[in-house]
Amino acid sequence: MSKPAHRSAGPPRRVDTDERPFVLIWELTQACDLTCEHCRADAQPDRHPDELTTEEAKTLLDQTSEFGENQLVVFSGGDPLKRDDAVELVEYGTEVGLSVTMTPSGTASLSPDAVADLADAGLRRMAVSIDGANAARHDAFRGEQGSFEETVSAAQSATNEGLPLQVNTTVCRQTIADLPEIADLVADLGAVLWSVFFLVPVGRGTALDPISPDRAERVMEWLVEEADEWPFGLKTTEAPHYRRVSIQQTEATPKRQMGITAGDGFAFVSHVGEVYPSGFLPESAGNVRERSVVDIYRDSDLFQSLRDEDALRGKCGACPYRNVCGGSRSRAYATTGDPLESDPLCSFVPEGYDGPLPWDDADPGPETDPEHAVNST
Ligand code: SF4
Repeated sequence: MSKPAHRSAGPPRRVDTDERPFVLIWELTQACDLTCEHCRADAQPDRHPDELTTEEAKTLLDQTSEFGENQLVVFSGGDPLKRDDAVELVEYGTEVGLSVTMTPSGTASLSPDAVADLADAGLRRMAVSIDGANAARHDAFRGEQGSFEETVSAAQSATNEGLPLQVNTTVCRQTIADLPEIADLVADLGAVLWSVFFLVPVGRGTALDPISPDRAERVMEWLVEEADEWPFGLKTTEAPHYRRVSIQQTEATPKRQMGITAGDGFAFVSHVGEVYPSGFLPESAGNVRERSVVDIYRDSDLFQSLRDEDALRGKCGACPYRNVCGGSRSRAYATTGDPLESDPLCSFVPEGYDGPLPWDDADPGPETDPEHAVNST
């Protein structure tokens, strides 16, 4: 099956990540009408009084355009549509040369008219979240009855508008058995990209169960096997060792620019302007109200250390794949408090490594039985 042609969002795949992020996520607001079990932002029903104002937001977009042509910016939340200037900001970002995409929440406010307004304003791609293969499972995960139907309807509105569609899915014990059916749904919806997020335990995500390293390895092997057959692209989020699995499985030649990790090709600006290496690594390197996001990304000690593969510790520091992987710095931070430590979701142990292993003290917890579901497709 060939993959569909679509408008590309963002800069060329090869960028110098010392100079610019491949993607900058901006959390417009933490306000959201959903109460998802895994919410990184611990979203609230009302907007925070100290959110960036419209003028401050435009200044941020001006700064961001200085990274270079066609810089990819994701308007995220919360629900970005809880801000009444969301469409205006899409239009402004587009005018200053950014490639703006958005991850609105699957609620009634994501109407066909709202999707059309976003497309008219220049939005390059819309992402929706689907975390269950049917309404009952998705709605339970999202904490809102009717969310599945509204999300699928919004996805159809996007494709009707000619707006490339991305589907985001969280991988954890609660969702793993649904992955094959969700992949079918992603294809049926005509999405151009499936983003598979391996849970990092921050925000309300601490209430969910991450999968074990062995199970993560099998999911990644399944993804590598299936990805070429899907009519959409695949990307993993907070699972850079997918690249190691892919290289081992396909015997591909490692390339430095194969992916991005927190602070290295990736940056996050919070609703109040704090700049983090990722939304799952809430360690601020500065605030855009005081310093340009460009300077913070290029020059702050935190971001520079995250781009130094030789600064990694534990088995990630000893790993021959660290230049193409490097592990999830967010997960290392969430589980150890040190963003340079080993990623505990990766089961690979470098040859000759005899230091501590991140799962030495971990409780493996109960396993559901997703393996059959994942491996049987
Ligand atoms: S040990 Fe670390 S750097 Fe090596 S593959 Fe695993 S996560 Fe990546």
